[in-house]
Amino acid sequence: MSEAQIKLIETLKKQGIANKKIIAAIVNTPRHLFVESVLKNRAYENKPLPIGYNQTISQPYIVAKMSQVILEEENMDRVLEIGTGSGYQAAVLSNFFKKVYTIERIKPLYNKTSQLLKNMNYKNIECFFGDGFEGLNLYAPFDAIMITASPSSIPEILIKQLKPSGRIIMPLNDKGKQKLLRIKKNKSGLLKKIIDDVFFVPMLEGTQS
Ligand code: SAH
Repeated sequence: MSEAQIKLIETLKKQGIANKKIIAAIVNTPRHLFVESVLKNRAYENKPLPIGYNQTISQPYIVAKMSQVILEEENMDRVLEIGTGSGYQAAVLSNFFKKVYTIERIKPLYNKTSQLLKNMNYKNIECFFGDGFEGLNLYAPFDAIMITASPSSIPEILIKQLKPSGRIIMPLNDKGKQKLLRIKKNKSGLLKKIIDDVFFVPMLEGTQS
């Protein structure tokens, strides 16, 4: 590990990322390969960075936190990520889930990232171009869904595509303020828990070519 990586891991631990599996996944995932080459030397700062097309790669702390919240002992077969972006979060998730499905609405970003993940040999990640508001019916139901862009209501279709005791983690926009929310589906409905204040790009409808 480089000095910058060691420092990042120390910071994450201080911020409450205690799970060893999460720390190992962050150590295993070369964030410098998911950012533009001019930003390589800043890849291990605990900050979001631009990835083009007005989008950002999330802050390592948020990636670690969301991963920690979605991790369970069992029910780790299929996860759906909405908002592929750089592919970094999908790569981290591929350490825990048997299969990671990820959807991106911006065509050139989808093209670039699906190629990158292929070149990096992530065999259990499958990328899709499309609108995450529609989910991915073909591979539903999912054990877990992670939304990495902010919608202003809980997308009903995604709840439907969850297994009966599945969970969703997402940054919900409530009157301009975003809260990271963990939602657990059960027989009587949805169990919601607020995790943190966050700031994500908005989840937008439709696709962009
Ligand atoms: N998980 C990403 C973070 C990406 S930022 C990473 O690790 O780098 C959020 C991404 O969500 C952007 O790429 C944006 O284009 C995408 N997005 C926004 N609305 C979407 C939608 N409805 N469907 C799919 N992707 C969406």
